[in-house]
Amino acid sequence: MSETTIFRKIIDREIPADIVYEDDLCLAFNDINPQSPTHVLLIPKKEIPTVNELVEEDQTLMGHLLLVAGKLAGQLGLDGGYRLVINCGRDGGQEVDHIHIHILGGRGMSWPPG
Ligand code: AMP
Repeated sequence: MSETTIFRKIIDREIPADIVYEDDLCLAFNDINPQSPTHVLLIPKKEIPTVNELVEEDQTLMGHLLLVAGKLAGQLGLDGGYRLVINCGRDGGQEVDHIHIHILGGRGMSWPPG
């Protein structure tokens, strides 16, 4: 049984979010604690806790998310580049157990990440 996360509540409009994109499969909204001038979270509407729970049937969904991420980055004016991040599990720094892509941009990114 999966627990209801804060992202499920955003999808269901039970709590507010600054939504920047939505379609049948996914939703994007500004991160409440931005780590860069642009910091958008892109989530599937399907509840998948982490990358580890992805199954074969999710391939098209995850491909769709990447296509949307690229289009959104363009719409957000991230012409100089940007970073996509999917944290997974405790060591990966994941706090919300609903898979999400961070779209980070608006400043130069360093490597390695912290
Ligand atoms: P992660 O650490 O990869 O699980 O990322 C979770 C992200 O969700 C963090 O960057 C948080 O700032 C963000 N976050 C948590 N609650 C909210 C919320 N209510 N609205 C928008 N972003 C949120």
